[in-house]
Amino acid sequence: AGAAAAPRPIRKSAKLAEVCYDIRGPVLVRAKQMEDEGHKIIKLNIGNLAAFGFDSPEEIQMDMIRNLPNAAGYSDSKGIFSARKAVMHYTQQKGIKGVTIEDIYIGNGVSELIVMAMNALLDAGDEVLVPAPDYPLWTAAVSLSGGKPVHYLCDESKGWLPDIDDMRAKINANTRAIVVINPNNPTGAVYPEETLKQIVALAREHDLILYADEVYDKVLYEGVKHTSMAALSEDVLTIIFNGLSKNYRSCGYRAGWMVVCGDKRRANDYIEGLNMLASMRLCANVPGQYAIQTALGGYQSIDDLVAVGGRMRRQRDLAWELINQIPGVSCVKPEATLYMFPRLDPKVYPIEDDQAFIAELLEEERVLLVQGSGFNWPHPDHFRLVFLPHEDDLRDAIGRIARFLENYRKR
Ligand code: PLP
Repeated sequence: AGAAAAPRPIRKSAKLAEVCYDIRGPVLVRAKQMEDEGHKIIKLNIGNLAAFGFDSPEEIQMDMIRNLPNAAGYSDSKGIFSARKAVMHYTQQKGIKGVTIEDIYIGNGVSELIVMAMNALLDAGDEVLVPAPDYPLWTAAVSLSGGKPVHYLCDESKGWLPDIDDMRAKINANTRAIVVINPNNPTGAVYPEETLKQIVALAREHDLILYADEVYDKVLYEGVKHTSMAALSEDVLTIIFNGLSKNYRSCGYRAGWMVVCGDKRRANDYIEGLNMLASMRLCANVPGQYAIQTALGGYQSIDDLVAVGGRMRRQRDLAWELINQIPGVSCVKPEATLYMFPRLDPKVYPIEDDQAFIAELLEEERVLLVQGSGFNWPHPDHFRLVFLPHEDDLRDAIGRIARFLENYRKR
């Protein structure tokens, strides 16, 4: 008696119980610790272009610097006029009809806008169809907003195209929306117009909203063409997401946008919700907003990097070749993005816990990957590899992965 009660542990909110974002998860924490201990880690875990010498265009940097004196105040919640006007022209180039300045929201990267779009929409019990594998922020944002993510499969045997039958089978009375990530992270797939049209038809039939994350729409190899989801209908409410992070190698400037397309009249109430959330965070980082007009109107330097002989293209080709040479490993060739999502044949590599597998690779070979389950892939038989390092580093890293797997096979 008399002893003071022990202070209560401070716990995270219950709403975080279902939220997962493993790209910066526990294995990354261990990698940082190893770096602090003096080890060099080869990081194939995150699409941070500038960190690998893919500099953001100088033109963008100079214009941001020039505009810095104008950028100290808050802007309009939806963003500065010049940026939104440039995005409006961009939607016209992509063949999207009927977009006005009012339909465009500038955010602190696409990330902020994804969370905002889900928060404004979802109530408990609402379901959103999200791809498996996915960029995990989508699943996390649905959960955080109180909704239920339901995963539709992308089919590896068909070049990772969405399985439309699976998508259809998972629609029920609680379904509110379908998320499509095209070009896709983590698989590197680009969807043909025919597939996109089938998804539009499903959305129309079941009265669903389409969310299209198109943040890699210029990081395209093999001369593939990207069609924006919003260019395929004027009736289905389609919200597209894009920004400077990948196409313009400017992740750190946190400049992204979201455009509400399609029949907006029936979405007045939802749009009011979006406007409220945009106002509550006052505005996006203003210096970053000044980079948008320059980027969209300027020299599209990404084209040189993805063209035959370009640095990104060479690294993609090399990484894909080397990965496929490892026994029991196969990989669909990415047509876009900075990523590939190889498969480890379960007969050769009977992995039970893919996070533990990735952690072991880190300890033994000092190479950091992200496990497939981090992208909501339901089986422990994939990982994502980022092919941003220079060719010599990629050779070294994939050589280490091959050595680790060779030892794994001998166990
Ligand atoms: N969407 C996808 C598919 C991504 O891969 C990423 C980042 O890797 C994002 C969104 C987030 O982009 P931003 O830097 O604009 O927040």
